[in-house]
Amino acid sequence: MKWIHGTYLKNRDIWLVQAKSGDSWMWKQILKTRDKALFSNGGVDNLMQLINSCVNNSKVQMSVLYHALSANSVPVPWYNTVWEGISYPKHSFLSWLAVQNRLQTQDRLLKRGIITSNSCCLCTRAEENRDHLFFDCLFSSEVWLLVMDWLKFSWRSCVWNHIMNWYCYKLRGKGDRQKIKRMALSSTLYCIWIERNNRIFKNKFRNAVQVFGEIKISMLYIILNSTSLLDSRDWILSL
Ligand SMILES: [Zn+2]
Repeated sequence: MKWIHGTYLKNRDIWLVQAKSGDSWMWKQILKTRDKALFSNGGVDNLMQLINSCVNNSKVQMSVLYHALSANSVPVPWYNTVWEGISYPKHSFLSWLAVQNRLQTQDRLLKRGIITSNSCCLCTRAEENRDHLFFDCLFSSEVWLLVMDWLKFSWRSCVWNHIMNWYCYKLRGKGDRQKIKRMALSSTLYCIWIERNNRIFKNKFRNAVQVFGEIKISMLYIILNSTSLLDSRDWILSL
């Protein structure tokens, strides 16, 4: 969460700060989520108590917090997939928006009249929507296939619904390799979304192998530094 402190908060109070017009879409989403949580929990004090109850080893357990915040709602099948405890919180948050189809993809912006044409900036051969971007697109499917090859997935699919079904029903267990495969999905979603944004907003392009390299490095950083994944180090380094 250093990026939030450095970029947005600058010593301002997280409970009081308001979104400004130049802020990133992601930051505005975080503040919107904060306001919803404040409303449904009856104010700052109650929400602080709830968050403190989800802290372990001075870290907020994102999956526990999500569970506490949605205590009265119906459990969703993608819960374990999205809120995998070893994933980066920003990757989990992006995945949470993606599974609910709430990312600001071009098909949605077009419907709202914010843009006038729709073309996927990763392949330039199709219109952009959630399912195309992840991973029907030629570019993103290349990235996802590299990830699946690296981690020796026993199946291959680049169809969003198939992938989510597989994760929700076959990859929901507590084993390290299942956890790592869940982290792989959220890291891939995040890095593809960042690549898409860099192309649109910064005119910066990387190829599929470079995006895959970033996913791999971000995952290895967690796996090789985590005391709970000691048994998986030799496996991941042998791949
Ligand atoms: Zn595409």
